[in-house]
Amino acid sequence: MALRTQSDYGDVPFNPYAYWDIDADLTLECERMERSLAEVFRRIEVTRERNQTRVLAALQNARVSESGFGGTTGYGYDDSGRDRLEEAFAQAFGAEKALVRISISTGTQAIAACLYGCLRPGDELLSVIGSPYDTLHEVIGSNDGVGDRLPDSGSLRDFGVIYREVPLTEEGKPDYEAIATAVTERTKMVLIQRSRGYSERASLRITEVERVARLVRAQSERVIIMVDNCYGEFTETREPCMVGADLCAGSLIKNVGGGLAPSGGYIAGREDLVERAAARLSAPGIGSHVGPSLGFNRLLTQGFFLAPHTTAETLKGLTLAAAMFERAGLSTVPRADEVRGDTVQVMKFRDESELMAFCSGVQRSAAVDSFVSPVPAPMPGYECDVIMAAGAFVQGATVELSADGPLRPPYLAFMQGGLVYEQVKLAVLLTLQAIREKQNDRD
Ligand SMILES: *Cc1c(COP(=O)(O)O)cnc(C)c1O
Repeated sequence: MALRTQSDYGDVPFNPYAYWDIDADLTLECERMERSLAEVFRRIEVTRERNQTRVLAALQNARVSESGFGGTTGYGYDDSGRDRLEEAFAQAFGAEKALVRISISTGTQAIAACLYGCLRPGDELLSVIGSPYDTLHEVIGSNDGVGDRLPDSGSLRDFGVIYREVPLTEEGKPDYEAIATAVTERTKMVLIQRSRGYSERASLRITEVERVARLVRAQSERVIIMVDNCYGEFTETREPCMVGADLCAGSLIKNVGGGLAPSGGYIAGREDLVERAAARLSAPGIGSHVGPSLGFNRLLTQGFFLAPHTTAETLKGLTLAAAMFERAGLSTVPRADEVRGDTVQVMKFRDESELMAFCSGVQRSAAVDSFVSPVPAPMPGYECDVIMAAGAFVQGATVELSADGPLRPPYLAFMQGGLVYEQVKLAVLLTLQAIREKQNDRD
């Protein structure tokens, strides 16, 4: 099909979204909304500038060089490109040491390496922000008998690690009072999750991470404070190790990969703890010394360089989405003008058809697989069908715009990422256009 051009639409104000048959008045409405969000966008840009300059200085200071981009094979000894990226990463995250590895395939793997690296039989792991992210349940072994977990799968529980959690308050906030007395003699490690993940609770602001870390530290000098940093990176101007965490970990196909990392994960923090995690990733005695970069040093480094920028782009896109959906009468978490602590937006749609229209809109907005239609399907762990939309260059990358939601009231949709602001805007316009057309059909 030939691309239609503006001239096909006659003498009307330029509508960049005309190709997708978005009504001109809807585009204009969105432009007005953008103007009204100028202050929120400005705030995001200030954060971006602080993070971008910190990352740039760290890359320079670590003497990142083109000569390291070739990388290594086999054992991966003396991989200067990998070592320099890890040094820059550690600096930018306020950590003593970092592992930034293509061989870590998921955030769960990075977090699990930290847990297995630090915890020993009889130790207690204490989650102070309620239940952790879904994939960690199997790692901890906290959902015995639920789902299709193998008996003796090698969970922390199988190794004699004890697990306990401090629930959130009814408002979904950290229960500071309970946290202040939760650490016991047995507690070896405390887990704090920064992002909302797939829950309705608010993400933690970095000041809240700081407050929790202080309360924990006041009870024990030696307890290890670990932050699940997934989706939180570069949303604010400080990272967990700058506010009292000993260790943090995350995925490179979320914020810190900048959209360029084709896979990978990271661990950053105190040197001895990062080494212990490395001993789990490879083997004791080998630790962080092995791990060939296989030619990916340039993509991981360039992605890291871009990450403050792409994270800001995402935050702007999600802000616009929240504002436009609020205007259409939907409830959103966080609200458009709230300061964000992660790159996830939750929307509450009124019925199944709106939720489906939204996921179709996200899919149709993508550069990849825009021609396929998301179809609700059963998912392990859910009693109802789940609909998902993702047109991504990297499989499963939620730094790229993606959305999903279970098909049941209250029809929540989780929207993550968005490397390019205009694509998020298009997804929103497509959804609102579809809702409008459905309403017109009904009338
Ligand atoms: C994404 C995420 C993880 C890890 O998920 P992976 O799919 O294994 O990368 C862990 N915790 C939170 C809060 C997350 O958002």
